[in-house]
Amino acid sequence: MNNIPTVMIIFGGSGDLAHRKIYPALFNLYRSGLIHDNFAVIGTARRPWSHEYLRGQVADAVHETYGEVDETDLEAFASHFYYQSHDVTNVEHYVTLKKLAQELDERYSCQGNRIFYMAMAPSFFGTIAEHIADQKLTGSGFNRLVVEKPFGTSLETAEVLNKQINGSFDEEQVFRIDHYLGKEMVQNILPLRLSNPMIKSIWNKDCIKNIQVTLAERLGVEARGGYYDASGAMRDMVQNHIFQIITLLAMPEPASLADTDIHAAKEALLDSLEIPDEAEVAAGFVRGQYGGTETTFAYTSEPNVDPESKTETFVAGRVKFDQGPLAGVPIYFRTGKEMKEKRTRIDIVLKDMAGIYGETGENSITIEVDPASEIYLTINGKTIQGGGLRRERLAYKFSPEEQAQVPDGYERLIHDVFVNDSTNFTKWKELKRYWEFVDAVEDAWQKQNESGQKPLTYAPYKMGPAESKQIFANPTDRWIY
Ligand code: NAD
Repeated sequence: MNNIPTVMIIFGGSGDLAHRKIYPALFNLYRSGLIHDNFAVIGTARRPWSHEYLRGQVADAVHETYGEVDETDLEAFASHFYYQSHDVTNVEHYVTLKKLAQELDERYSCQGNRIFYMAMAPSFFGTIAEHIADQKLTGSGFNRLVVEKPFGTSLETAEVLNKQINGSFDEEQVFRIDHYLGKEMVQNILPLRLSNPMIKSIWNKDCIKNIQVTLAERLGVEARGGYYDASGAMRDMVQNHIFQIITLLAMPEPASLADTDIHAAKEALLDSLEIPDEAEVAAGFVRGQYGGTETTFAYTSEPNVDPESKTETFVAGRVKFDQGPLAGVPIYFRTGKEMKEKRTRIDIVLKDMAGIYGETGENSITIEVDPASEIYLTINGKTIQGGGLRRERLAYKFSPEEQAQVPDGYERLIHDVFVNDSTNFTKWKELKRYWEFVDAVEDAWQKQNESGQKPLTYAPYKMGPAESKQIFANPTDRWIY
C-alpha cells in the first residue's frame, strides 16, 4: 500500500467518536503503511489540551481498542498528532489553525493535501464549512471533507448545509459517512446478489414476496435525550442506514464496480422511489414510544426529553420502487430503541411455489449484519422418518479467525477517503431523495399529532408495538424475525 501524504484536521478531536473510532482506525492504517512518514493529524476542540496530552489520549484509545500493541510503533504514530485549542465559532482560531496546518505540511512533506473531518455536533457543520472557505484553509494538493451524520434535519436544512459546504468543496470532494456502509455484510449485499446466478435469477417480483430490514437496538436514548427528542427514529436511523441498505438491495446492476457507476445505479433506482402521501403513511407506517413499566423508564421520563413528547423511538414502514429488479416488491423496515436485542438483519422472503408437497414453509435468505456476520438460506427437505418436510439452514459464515480479520467500518471508510474511493459514501442526490421520503412521513405525522394522535406505547425489550404487523400489504404476511 502506498504512503499517502496528508494533513488531517479533526474537528471534535476530544470527542467520543474520535476516541473510539477515528484514532484506532488511523493506527491500523499506519500499521498497514497507508500513512507513514508523511502525515500529521491536528485534533481540535475547545479544551486547553497540549500536543502531549492529545498523544496520550491517542495511545489510550489504541490500547482500549486493540489491547497490547507494539509500543515503538504506537509512540511513532502518536508523535504525528498535534492539538489546537479551537472554538469553531471563532474566526481568529481558523487563522491559527491554518498556520499550524501549513507548518506541519512543510515538516512532513504533505504536498498540500488536506482531509477535514467534521466529528462534532452537526449544528456546527455549516459554521465550520463556511470558515474553511472564508479563511481559505484548503491546501494546494487534494482537499477532502468527511462529514458525520446527521446531514441536516430535513431536506431544507440539508440543502442549506450542502450550499455552505459547496463554498469550499465540490461534490466529489465530500465524503458523507454512513458507517453502516462500512459493515462487512452490508458490503456483501451486491456480491451476494450479483455474483451468484442462483440468487441473481430469483431477484425479482415473481420470486420475492417481500423484504424485511430490521435495525433493533437494546438501549434507550441514554444521555442523548436532547438530540434524540428533536430527531426520532425516522431521521436518526431510516434517513441514512436503513435507506442505504434498501438501496443496495433494490438497485439495478451497475455497469461496473467503479464508484461513479455504483452511484449512477443508485440514483436511477431512487428516481423511482414512491414518496408516500398521508393515506400511505396512515396505512403503511406505525410509530411507537417505549413506555413505562415498574422496572423501566418511559421515554418521556428520560433526561432532556419533553414529558409531552411525540417523538417516535420506534418506526415500522414500507418502501416501494417503480423501477429496478424489485419494482413492485414491498420492502418493509423497522427500527427502534429498547427492543428485544441489538440486532441488524435483512430477510428476503420468497414466494411459496406450492406443488405436490402442498403448503411448504417459505424459503428465505437472511443476511445477519450485527452482531453476527452471516448469510443463510432457509430451505425445506424431507424428514428422516415419515413423509414430512423439515426446515434447515444453509449458511455462509466466518470462522472465529476470519471474523477477527473483519475491519471496523470506520477503518474501511477512512481508508476509502485516503484512496479517494467514494463507493460507500452518500452522494447528495441520494441524500436528497431520502430526505424527500422522510419529510413526507414527518409531515403526515405532524398532521396526525395536530388531530390528537400519538405514537403507540410499546413495552421495552419486545419487537415494538404489536400493531407493526399491520403495515403488511398482504394480511397473511408477518415479520419472520
Ligand atoms: P462528542 O460530544 O463526544 O464530541 C464533540 C466534540 O466537539 C468534542 O471534542 C467537543 O470538545 C467539541 N466541541 C463542542 N463544541 C465545540 C466548539 N464550539 N468548538 C470546538 N469544539 C467543540 O460527540 P461524538 O459522539 O464524538 O459525535 C460527533 C459526531 O459524530 C456527531 O455528528 C455524531 O452524530 C457522529 N457520530 C458519533 C458516533 C459515536 O459513536 N460517538 C457514531 C456515529 C456518528
